[in-house]
Amino acid sequence: MRMKTLEHQWLDVLCGRGGGGGKDVQELKRLAAGYEGECELDRWLRDFGRPHWKIFRDIWIDAGGTTQIDTLVVTGEGIHVFDVKNYSGELEYVDGKWWSGGRRLNKDIFIQLKRSMEKMGVMHHRIGGRGRLTGRIVFVGEHGRVHVKDPVDVEVVMRHDIRRMIHKLADDENWNDVLDIGETARAVEGFMIECPYKPRELDDVEFGRLRWGVRCGACGGFGVVAKRYHIECRCGHVEPKEKAVLRTICEYGVLRHERDLKVGEVHQFLGGIISKVRLSEILRKHFQLKVSGRHATYVNPRAEFRYVFKNIVFRYERVK
Ligand SMILES: [Zn+2]
Repeated sequence: MRMKTLEHQWLDVLCGRGGGGGKDVQELKRLAAGYEGECELDRWLRDFGRPHWKIFRDIWIDAGGTTQIDTLVVTGEGIHVFDVKNYSGELEYVDGKWWSGGRRLNKDIFIQLKRSMEKMGVMHHRIGGRGRLTGRIVFVGEHGRVHVKDPVDVEVVMRHDIRRMIHKLADDENWNDVLDIGETARAVEGFMIECPYKPRELDDVEFGRLRWGVRCGACGGFGVVAKRYHIECRCGHVEPKEKAVLRTICEYGVLRHERDLKVGEVHQFLGGIISKVRLSEILRKHFQLKVSGRHATYVNPRAEFRYVFKNIVFRYERVK
C-alpha cells in the first residue's frame, strides 16, 4: 500500500476538522491529485508488471544531495525511476517552457527529473553501476492532455502507453537479466532517508479552533452517537468504539506530530467518548510507553489509523 505523506495526512485531518486556510486547501488538492496518480501507476504495475520486481513508493534518497522519488522499480535488468504527473487540464511544452491554458508554469517538469536523476546516477555508481538506470515522466491523468512539441532527452510516457512501457520493462528483463533484485533493493535502501519535510506545528490557538471529538470513519462528519460498544453515524455507518477511538488518537497524533501522546491531552481531544481510565487501557494496549507514571506518555506513531493498525481485528466489528 502506498502511504500518503505526513504532510498529506496532516492536511487531510486539519481541513477535515475545519482548520486550514485557502492555501492549505489548495495544497491538499494538489497532493491528493498527485497521490491518486501515483496509486494509478501502482495499479498498472500490479496488473502488468512482474511479481518479483521490487517497488519502492514515495521514497527519499540521499546521494550527492537529497531527492524524492514517486516510484522506483528494481527489475533484473535495472533500476527504473518514475516521476508521476496527474494533470487534469491541457499542458504544453514548447520553446523549452511549460504552458497551461495560456499561462506559463513556474516549474520545469523535465529539469526536476533531470536533477533527480543526477543524484540517482551517483547512487547507481556507488552501488556498482550494474544494470541500467532509467528515468521517466509518466502522465497518468485521464482527462489531462499533454503536448510535448520540442524534442527532449527525457522519456515521456503518456497514459495510453503505460501498459506497453511496462511490458517493455519485462521484455528487457528477459534479454538482460543481470541484477540480483533483492541485493540491489537492499543497496538502494542504504541510500534511503526519512522525508526531511515536516508539516508546520499548530499553536494552541489554531489547534483549539479545530473541531475535536470522534468523526465518522465513513463520511468524516461529526454526527456520531456513542453506544456501549459502537458508534453510529447519521450516515448509517456503524463502527466498533475501540476502533473509532484508535482512529481518532491517530488523527490527533498526525495533527500534533511534534508531540508525544499524553493521556490528558488525548482524552480532551476525544471529547469525552470514553473515560480516562479506559483511554489509559487502550493506550497501554496499542501504543509504546515512553514515560510511565501519573503523567504517562506514549510514542506518537505520526500516521493515520489505516497505516498503524493494518491487521487489527475488532471484537464488535460487523462482518461486511
Ligand atoms: Zn458518517
